Amino acid sequence: LRINQYSTAAEPSFKQRNPPRVPNLIEGSFVDSKSLASIDVINPATQEVVLQVPLTTNVEFKASVSAAKHAFPSWRNTPVTTRQRVMLKFQELIRRNIDKLAMNITTEQGKTLKDAHGDVFRGLEVVEHACGMGTLQMGEYVSNVSNGIDTYSIREPLGVCAGICPFNFPAMIPLWMFPIAVTCGNTFVLKPSEKDPGASLMLAELAMEAGLPKGVLNIVHGTNDIVNAICDDDDIRAVSFVGSNTAGMHIYARASAKGKRVQSNMGAKNHAIVMPDANVDATLNALVAAGFGAAGQRCMALSTVVFVGGSNSWEQELVGRAKALKVTAGTDPDADLGPVISKQAKERIHRLIQSGAENGARLILDGRNIKVVAGYEHGNFIGPTILSDVSADMECYKEEIFGPVLLCMEADSLEEAINIVNRNKYGNGASIFTTSGAAARKFQTEIEAGQVGINVPIPVPLPFFSFTGSKSSFAGDLNFYGKAGVNFYTQIKTVTQQWKDLSTGSGVSLAMPTSQ
Ligand code: NAD
Repeated sequence: LRINQYSTAAEPSFKQRNPPRVPNLIEGSFVDSKSLASIDVINPATQEVVLQVPLTTNVEFKASVSAAKHAFPSWRNTPVTTRQRVMLKFQELIRRNIDKLAMNITTEQGKTLKDAHGDVFRGLEVVEHACGMGTLQMGEYVSNVSNGIDTYSIREPLGVCAGICPFNFPAMIPLWMFPIAVTCGNTFVLKPSEKDPGASLMLAELAMEAGLPKGVLNIVHGTNDIVNAICDDDDIRAVSFVGSNTAGMHIYARASAKGKRVQSNMGAKNHAIVMPDANVDATLNALVAAGFGAAGQRCMALSTVVFVGGSNSWEQELVGRAKALKVTAGTDPDADLGPVISKQAKERIHRLIQSGAENGARLILDGRNIKVVAGYEHGNFIGPTILSDVSADMECYKEEIFGPVLLCMEADSLEEAINIVNRNKYGNGASIFTTSGAAARKFQTEIEAGQVGINVPIPVPLPFFSFTGSKSSFAGDLNFYGKAGVNFYTQIKTVTQQWKDLSTGSGVSLAMPTSQ
């Protein structure tokens, strides 16, 4: 799939380049950037340059914010039912185009086509949820708080909001952001990942086809400079970020210092605790799927397993099942794992595996020299890798690896296993596998992670809940989507009204008013 699918483009020059260059979206038009600088988008399975991303100029960035600012007054006054209907149409168009979106994701990001469908679908569910915004955005009312006086609160949109995205979910994460923001009545500037911006552009085109007026959603490109421009811009009221801790904490500090709201979802080290009584087959399947799915490049990947009461038999079985996975280009219908995002990511993952092995961990499955099918020799492939006897002081444990590498640890008791997890700085997700209700309940109560799975490996909540990472995995206090997401993109106005017969008069009182 190529960018020349953007039929609404007013300016065709970006289509004529080879490779094509991804356009900005400003005030409803897909326009090639005037920037001379570009970054290559590389197919991780082949190293082919599929697209280029411009470093959007400052003038273009300002134009995008200005377009969003001008679109705001009329969009915020558009009835919520109309805004919902745009989302209703948008979800239908996403469904209709899901194969094209998935193919674009596989080409730019590398994940398997089946997984890419899941990427789109989990975002689609947020769009579906936004269709009920009339209810979600409802205010509150208390009648007769004082004699003849009522108080009510209204949730109003903020104005221009911005979103900064990571590479690993090119559809789902933009869809966590702009559908909720715009259905609340905000306008938006989106900065997709420079590694795989195609899905964002396709989604924007579909959103406009669904009826989103020009200027309500704008798209700009680049890396640190444009991100800093977003943090500093006086017209942007809120920033949604998903990505690494280095970028996330920088953005949180810089944008908050300018008085903006920030929600920052960051890195993870998600643990599974496996109790001796767990169902063996289901647990092994869950560990393999959540450890190696998406080549480990999910913020909710289970990257560490703590076996309670001995790990030997579990590990042997894990190796057997992991070895059976097929590692190849994501377009192969039989692929279980695609490549990792870049050569640099592959080198970094290799280095962390090596450091684990050199520091006392046992490398019981080494995927570093995996053979891949002809045609993909240059892809960034790493096979499933398992390190056993890992301890908390090892670099491979302290760092988020973000690759198909599963670390195995042991604990003598559930108590000890919970302590291991809680000492880790991250708090995105954690799961327990057990048939004991008492163990599950203790885990749920004592574990310090925002998203808890009980016999569920990847407990990413559906959009009527929120994505609730905690500790170093999140900065801010209003999470993505669900009620928290609506609260993030709205501010409360509280109105106190008095309607009563004032003809009798009550004189002047200079005391602080109290309820009468
Ligand atoms: P990244 O931080 O490198 O990039 C994310 C975005 O930030 C990109 O748009 C990039 O251009 C920008 N950016 C990067 N470095 C920057 C800097 N120094 N200053 C300003 N902007 C910068 O993250 P990534 O590699 O694209 O994504 C992987 C990370 O995202 C992992 O840590 C993963 O755990 C995390 N993630 C978290 C969640 C979650 O919900 N908690 C979900 C998905 C991914």
